[in-house]
Amino acid sequence: MINKKGEVQCINDEILEKLSLKHRYNFLNNNLMSILKPEAFNFLKKTQKFFLRFEKNNNITHNEDFYDWIPEIGNAGLVTRVSNFKEIGLNYEPHGMIAEFMRCLATDFFDPQFAMGVGANVLCVNPLMFHHGDVDERLKALKDLVTGQKIGCICITEPERGSDAVHMQTTCKENEDGSYILNGEKIYQTNGVKADLAIVYAVAEQNNGNTMAQLLVDTTWDGWNVERLNIPWTPRVFIGKETFTNLKVPKEYILGKVGRGREHLFEGLNLERLGIVLLNISEAWNAISHATIYANMRKQFDQEILKYQGVGFPLADMWAKTMSLTLAALHICQIIDEKMEQFGTLPQNFNLALVATASQLKSQSAELTERVCFGCADLMGGAGLCDNTLMSDLLGISRIHRVGGGTSQIQKYIMSLALRQLFKML
Ligand SMILES: Cc1cc2nc3c(=O)[nH]c(=O)nc-3n(C[C@H](O)[C@H](O)[C@H](O)COP(=O)(O)OP(=O)(O)OC[C@H]3O[C@@H](n4cnc5c(N)ncnc54)[C@H](O)[C@@H]3O)c2cc1C
Repeated sequence: MINKKGEVQCINDEILEKLSLKHRYNFLNNNLMSILKPEAFNFLKKTQKFFLRFEKNNNITHNEDFYDWIPEIGNAGLVTRVSNFKEIGLNYEPHGMIAEFMRCLATDFFDPQFAMGVGANVLCVNPLMFHHGDVDERLKALKDLVTGQKIGCICITEPERGSDAVHMQTTCKENEDGSYILNGEKIYQTNGVKADLAIVYAVAEQNNGNTMAQLLVDTTWDGWNVERLNIPWTPRVFIGKETFTNLKVPKEYILGKVGRGREHLFEGLNLERLGIVLLNISEAWNAISHATIYANMRKQFDQEILKYQGVGFPLADMWAKTMSLTLAALHICQIIDEKMEQFGTLPQNFNLALVATASQLKSQSAELTERVCFGCADLMGGAGLCDNTLMSDLLGISRIHRVGGGTSQIQKYIMSLALRQLFKML
């Protein structure tokens, strides 16, 4: 039998129906209802309601080009919730990191690859949120991105400079009128091919991070060229390799002048890594919801497979690890929200301490999602590996998170430097 997505049906109707978005959301809600505050829980349910309707009304098969969905998602205020965005005439409530976590969970359960694409959009939003300086062009770009009218990407990595991002090769040269000329190459940009707007980092002097600048680029400008590269584990995410040839960036679009870029880069990396943490945890919950439903219904040797310790115990173990990391992430989200409420920004010393915390959570959650998504698929047997559910998407996407946003080795390097600092403070 071929199902409506054109796939050969491997899972029976009854189990497939129970694996639907609605039931997986219910599983998640039953797990979180006692630990979330009412405002967060209500927002989670409201966002879920939106995606349930969106999936049904548009007959979504999860094979589509999801970039076409972004304007509607943006209209619903679900591209990002990190801020209320009052500066651009919006007033999102709730907003902040906990709200962003809820948005991430609901979005990921709906479509993990889509959640990753939207997540990279947010990486373009954050620098504009901090550095719009009330300049009209930047505020317009910010509004277009937040409301999903435009797609964004962030350009840090280069073909010859990955982990060593500070020693960039891409150059920017300042003109007398304050505009910059950009030359160089970037690689592995999530959304790069689809992006209307890009945040680009470049240096006045190659290999000198102290001369870094942060620029906003409109990808329709002359000198922007992009090719699509293939990451087979996330086939629906458009990842780009960009070349800049004498690309002129007007002065209104310079978010951080030469010398300020490095500071802006590190400020953004904390939020980028925490955003990845939220994605990782959401993927783990998505996988656990699939496996729990399946293992409670699938019978072998006349028993539900959950009842065999070989299935039930490892599933319980993955569940405990996922819940533990969820609690840790909620805690740091809450601290950030409180600081933002109190100071309107993150104090510098807090941001510094957050570097190690973001690395700890990023590396642990990347490991968690990779283990949990594989572990859950494995416990589901053939049903976890075929294309009838989102498990195949989860398997692929969970394998890239150790690399994006700085590899696990680099996170550990950052943490070891922090341990040295802590020792010196004794
Ligand atoms: C799917 C995907 C999406 C991405 N999206 C974006 C994006 O939107 N924007 C963007 O700018 N970039 C993006 N990246 C790039 C990503 O941030 C880089 O791939 C990453 O920082 C590693 O760089 P690299 O690939 O050049 O590996 P390299 O830096 O060459 O590293 C190769 C290996 O060496 C190890 N290594 C390097 N230095 C050290 C060291 N000092 N100590 C120990 N080990 C080390 C690394 O951990 C890794 O295992 C994305 C990557 C992927 C795969």
